[in-house]
Amino acid sequence: MNATESKVVLVTGASSGIGQATARHLAAMGHRVVAGARRTDRLAALAAECDGAVNGVELDVASLDSVHAFVAHAMARYGRVDVLVNNAGVMPLSPIADLRVHEWDQMIDVNLRGTLYGIAAVLPGMRARGSGHIVNISSVSGHRVDPTAAVYSATKFAVRALSEGLRQENDDIRVTVVSPGFTHSELTHQGGAPDARSAARAATERLAIPAAAIAEAIAFAVAQPPNVDVNELVVRPTAQR
Ligand code: NDP
Repeated sequence: MNATESKVVLVTGASSGIGQATARHLAAMGHRVVAGARRTDRLAALAAECDGAVNGVELDVASLDSVHAFVAHAMARYGRVDVLVNNAGVMPLSPIADLRVHEWDQMIDVNLRGTLYGIAAVLPGMRARGSGHIVNISSVSGHRVDPTAAVYSATKFAVRALSEGLRQENDDIRVTVVSPGFTHSELTHQGGAPDARSAARAATERLAIPAAAIAEAIAFAVAQPPNVDVNELVVRPTAQR
């Protein structure tokens, strides 16, 4: 890949699962990746594995200051941001009647507010340059609602809605929504009602596709020319209903 094809790509939630696989895959393709998450030990291991193509930076997407600092780090190092992958997410599942309000807030803060904060931090620079690409990770749960996933689905429907608005308002900036189905990651490892968590974990163990499959879908959208905007990709296990 030559210097003009190599992009500066920021990936949130890159310490595990889909974000980690995406950072790894895009770096292997020749892009320069800035990987953010709270577990910096994981980011350091990823950076070491990717031999300088991945730069790990501590990031809490629920904090606007932290998101601005993440983008500022990329700007200081590379002078621009070509692609932002808003991937960080949490999924503590539970019935609404359980009233796990703190976990509702966490999903809104990370999945929805975090995505908006990422957009806020990169959009002015992209508009000034007249180019850029924002990839937002929604979910199959952003297309359908199931019991115990109402609030999670609400955040993921919202990600699709704001992505469509962002797309319509910008002629020069590409906007892609990637909606994974069951994918191997740490998403079901913590939080939520124990029954709901074990059901989601069992379904994941039975059906899930590798995180690299989602990374490849993201890479496909990134690889298109500036006038081609892949808007929506749903990628799920063949056997998922
Ligand atoms: P993981 O739990 O493996 O990864 C989630 C990532 O988000 C971690 O790197 C975690 O890093 C990061 N994260 C969580 N909270 C924050 C925060 N406050 N600030 C910064 N980073 C944060 O799950 P997945 O890889 O599966 O999840 C990635 C995305 O894919 C999510 O948006 C999820 O909703 C979506 N998705 C996943 C599906 C699946 O089946 N796996 C299906 C559909 C959608 P750290 O804790 O170190 O901060």
